[in-house]
Amino acid sequence: MHVLIVEDDPRIRSFLAKGLKAEGYATSLAPDGDQALGLAAAFGPEYDLVLLDLGLPGTDGREVLRRLRAEHPALPVLILTARDDVASKVWGLDAGACDYLTKPFAFDELLARVRVALRAPGPGAAELVAGDLRLDPATRIVHRAGRRIELAPREWALLEYFARHPHQVLSRAQLLSHVWDIEFDPGSNVVDVYVGYLRRKLNAEGLPVLLGAVRGVGYRLLAPGAPATPAGSDGPAHGPSPGP
Ligand code: CA
Repeated sequence: MHVLIVEDDPRIRSFLAKGLKAEGYATSLAPDGDQALGLAAAFGPEYDLVLLDLGLPGTDGREVLRRLRAEHPALPVLILTARDDVASKVWGLDAGACDYLTKPFAFDELLARVRVALRAPGPGAAELVAGDLRLDPATRIVHRAGRRIELAPREWALLEYFARHPHQVLSRAQLLSHVWDIEFDPGSNVVDVYVGYLRRKLNAEGLPVLLGAVRGVGYRLLAPGAPATPAGSDGPAHGPSPGP
């Protein structure tokens, strides 16, 4: 999951980036509103969440929120600000922020709110289920076919991204931008290395391989036991449905 951090205080910005990275999130940083809007325009689909300060030099956080809502309606925005008056909170939530947290804040509370913001809507959405895999984002514990598996933060981040996109072919570039950073060297083999780590941990004896390689593109989570891939979304081997 890739978080865009919009924060003008360099100490808070670096604290947020370090803390989120340690938890396995990819981060991009914007020190003011104009750079935030520029990054969102260039890389909008790469981001999964925006952490937005309101008191920013240049384009104010309120205007940034308005523009983000208009231009990237599916991108959740969590406001993180020193403005703790009720009117600001009501304004922010009414303007489309998914949550509002005031400074000073406890990092564990921020992490919990980030998890909520990233949670897919719907009942029982707190736990991610893909085939015989169960992922609990709150504890980061993974079970496969009843067996508990411990993952390092970046392994967790990669598996979580696969689990949110089961059966979908995910390119190396897509995985690099959502699980690592956009700035990461695109020639890197880090995706293949981490897929290797995950396979070793997930593929107990007798269980089918979960992460399938798609030659020249990337990987996809095969999620055995999950409902079949919808027709037409399974690559070139299947043509479109025959016409009348
Ligand atoms: Ca500020």
